[in-house]
Amino acid sequence: MSILHDFHMHSSFSTDSEATMEQMVLRAGALGLKGICFTEHMDADFPPEPGSFEADPAEVLKEISRLRPLYDPRFASPDPSSAASCACSRNPGRGRVSVEIGFGLELGMQSHLPARYEKLAQEWPFDFLTASQHLVGKADPYYPEVWKERSEKEIISCYYEEMYDNIRKMKDWDTLSHLDYIIRYIPGRQDSVYDSLAFHREIIAAILEYVIRQGKCLEVNSAGIRHGLGQPNPSSSILMLYRDLGGEQITIGSDAHTPEDIALGFSGTEKLLLECGFRAYTVFQGRIPVEVPILRE
Ligand SMILES: [Zn+2]
Ligand SMILES: [Zn+2]
Repeated sequence: MSILHDFHMHSSFSTDSEATMEQMVLRAGALGLKGICFTEHMDADFPPEPGSFEADPAEVLKEISRLRPLYDPRFASPDPSSAASCACSRNPGRGRVSVEIGFGLELGMQSHLPARYEKLAQEWPFDFLTASQHLVGKADPYYPEVWKERSEKEIISCYYEEMYDNIRKMKDWDTLSHLDYIIRYIPGRQDSVYDSLAFHREIIAAILEYVIRQGKCLEVNSAGIRHGLGQPNPSSSILMLYRDLGGEQITIGSDAHTPEDIALGFSGTEKLLLECGFRAYTVFQGRIPVEVPILRE
């Protein structure tokens, strides 16, 4: 497998994960990954409890700064008396792990939040920021009651419209995360996958064209596979449309919330990306994009 970076994952700094950052780093190292990026939840004003999905960048950076000299080759000091060497000698297992550790956030979009997120982006030395639409009409589609009021198609249409409005309001982000995320939560669709392009082609094309025009990336989120969709988010048909429209820049992430889910589904994702004609993916360091080739086996 030539995908060696997982650029979307969470740890206990996100409310919905119990994994420590160190557990995530050790697992990534054991899998042979070259780099990861923590994208903890920053879903400001998330209902029903505002504050429930807001990671504290200070705390996140503090832990990343502790882990980097121990595991990240870019931060290891060649001095034998350094912290890194000491850690290795105290714990031989640590010395074998070598993973670049990125500092990111997953920004949950809502129409009133862009200024707040822009300030945050200026204040902290992030490597990478993802833009995510998690809500539809201020409600979380994870909950089945959200789907009771209107038809499936109406709700999903609203979701894409809100995403399109929000990405045009937000300036400071690097990749658009899991574009068709909402289809994971359609109640009673265990056996069939909702075909977003069949019903919402125009708005999805507008979103993709905007991403391309702005020089941003589209995320390929392999969690769709473990959520039973059999393909990443967005779907292969949306990835093909992105290619047809001239889209080339993609980031790749598992959206792991546990060590076991890191890089899960990457080999299937890699095969699909090659079929769609992608030859590289993008990683970020200090918000600067770097292309990594996807090699045919
Ligand atoms: Zn997300
Ligand atoms: Zn996530």
